[in-house]
Amino acid sequence: MSHAFTGGCACGAIRYEISAEPVFMNDCQCRDCQQASGTGHGSYLTFPSRKAVKLSGQATHWDMVADSGNVKTRGFCPSCGVPVYLTFAAMPELFTIHAASLDDPARFAPQAVTYRMRGHDWDPVDPVVPAFDGMPTGA
Ligand SMILES: [Zn+2]
Ligand SMILES: [Zn+2]
Repeated sequence: MSHAFTGGCACGAIRYEISAEPVFMNDCQCRDCQQASGTGHGSYLTFPSRKAVKLSGQATHWDMVADSGNVKTRGFCPSCGVPVYLTFAAMPELFTIHAASLDDPARFAPQAVTYRMRGHDWDPVDPVVPAFDGMPTGA
């Protein structure tokens, strides 16, 4: 029996409720995720369909070209600045959230480390988690 994934930004202006199971959970060490997180990597849960996502509040969107060459859009709170979600122009059905935005971040269980080649010595991640130089999905 699963229950919805809920969360949002730090100030509460943006909230989500996702009635689906994630298809992918990863720690990403790409340069962009380093900048967005302010440290060595970002941690993400990706859901297969936006239909399962209830979103409230208005995020500010920033489009950027990812390491993969695809455009991704980062949604963050204009009030508290916390990054909440990501969407991808090439895969418009996917909805990705930052693990720390979950009400219960313990539900994050990484399956892969992506862009390991961009990782820093000062940011070791769990060696038990399989690491890829890029994205295993090619995304
Ligand atoms: Zn906020
Ligand atoms: Zn990344």
